[in-house]
Amino acid sequence: MASMIRRQFLASLAAASLNPLRSAPRFKKDPFTLGICSGDPIADGIVLWTRLALDPLDGGGMGQDSHQVDWIVAEDEGLKKIVKRGTETATPQFAHTVHADVRGLKPGHWYWYQFRCGGVETKVGRTRTAPAAGSNDPLRFAFASCQHYETGYYTAYQHMAKEDLDLIVHLGDYIYEGGPGKDRPRLHNSAEIKSLNDYRNRYALYRSDEHLRKAHELFPWIVTWDDHEVDNNYANDIAEDNAPRDQFLERRSNAYQAYYENMPLRKTSLPRGSSLDLYRTLDFGKTARFHVLDTRQYRSDQPCGDGRKPQCAAALSPAQTMLGDRQEKWLMDKLKSSRQTWNVLANQVMFAKMDVKQGDGAEYSMDQWSGYEVPRQRLCKFFDEAKPNNPVVITGDIHSSWVSEIKSDFNRPESRNVGVEFVGTSITSSGDGVEVPAAEAAFKKDNPHLKFFLAKRGYVSCAVTAKSWESAYRVVPVVSTPNGAIETRAKFRVEAGTNRIERV
Ligand code: FE
Ligand code: CA
Repeated sequence: MASMIRRQFLASLAAASLNPLRSAPRFKKDPFTLGICSGDPIADGIVLWTRLALDPLDGGGMGQDSHQVDWIVAEDEGLKKIVKRGTETATPQFAHTVHADVRGLKPGHWYWYQFRCGGVETKVGRTRTAPAAGSNDPLRFAFASCQHYETGYYTAYQHMAKEDLDLIVHLGDYIYEGGPGKDRPRLHNSAEIKSLNDYRNRYALYRSDEHLRKAHELFPWIVTWDDHEVDNNYANDIAEDNAPRDQFLERRSNAYQAYYENMPLRKTSLPRGSSLDLYRTLDFGKTARFHVLDTRQYRSDQPCGDGRKPQCAAALSPAQTMLGDRQEKWLMDKLKSSRQTWNVLANQVMFAKMDVKQGDGAEYSMDQWSGYEVPRQRLCKFFDEAKPNNPVVITGDIHSSWVSEIKSDFNRPESRNVGVEFVGTSITSSGDGVEVPAAEAAFKKDNPHLKFFLAKRGYVSCAVTAKSWESAYRVVPVVSTPNGAIETRAKFRVEAGTNRIERV
């Protein structure tokens, strides 16, 4: 593997040196068809992103030349007070995407930015740096996941864009990999995606949505992936359809590269063959540390044949890993060193143990942490003994909302609370959703740590201070038709130091 990665690296270097650099192209058409975005705010910096793509749904249409793209950052929306400027080279190797890692900004400040190339300029984007280390500034952010393009409209983003937020966190399933379905509000642009070109075109389709682009223009994002950025329920090097390992890793490297290209990530997340370092921390003063997790790249295979099952011996095996040894150790180290009030785990699959068989008998999703019982228990024990401040797990994946207290031992309901988990629903995936009060009552009966369940679409809006955390479950009535209204269906508060959820 190492030699394969090295060969690819050398090949890409050689290709890069062959590309003529044309610093002054003139575009007759707008090449910034996919908009702009920003992400991974730190106290003195931000990543700014754009892509040159004259023909975004068909490979980009930019040919083999590299181009220089200029960017500016200003303190005002009118771009009068420019504080930073620079130039990045957009190369064909990375689909003419630009990732400018801007430094030297002021902490806790709004900024406006714009890109220029070939006589064309982008819209003006807005972004915000993280507060200074030690600051107790409050933080407002929304988290989202699962935005299957075919199953509905991004009404949730339309409303999110109107909120007063510092940040948006995306927990994965930014794209879906499947081919077009039938009788859907809108359709995918190709059969199941596998090649680099396929993945690129799929991101372009998703970014063609005006509400998604607007949410990117207005706020910085922190992103992580789940499975559908590559293949449904893949685990490390194991495909859903049991494709041969080499073949799947080639697909994974295509998917990871397109992910890097299209997200506002630092160059520390540059793909290396079929690997990409995505897990990282981001600090918001003394208020919050985000531990952004990757629960796909390093995990062992789903046990017990995947799906919803009673926990068989394999689910309880100490050989199971969700994060991989290196990431698990990293997480515990970052929790130990954290002085922040809230330790947010930006996670993909449900952490709390959840019996989802209503009534007698117990079944758990083997794709979630319940298929990885020993690593979950290790983390619960760590929360209990090392006592990191206020763990809050935020989770996506299952297209429904679940609010739980995390127990030091889920097998003993009377055991201490050691954290909380807010599972947010999908933006669109699984369609309009349903009202199921009977299911909520049954799940709560079987799972005393569960406080709320809902199977509608939307997102979660969080207000975080040195004293308390509030999560508002924002719900849209339908996604199969555009422009629905939004409501706050339920709101939960956690007072710092309690690990206890109150409905407010
Ligand atoms: Fe999903
Ligand atoms: Ca049950």
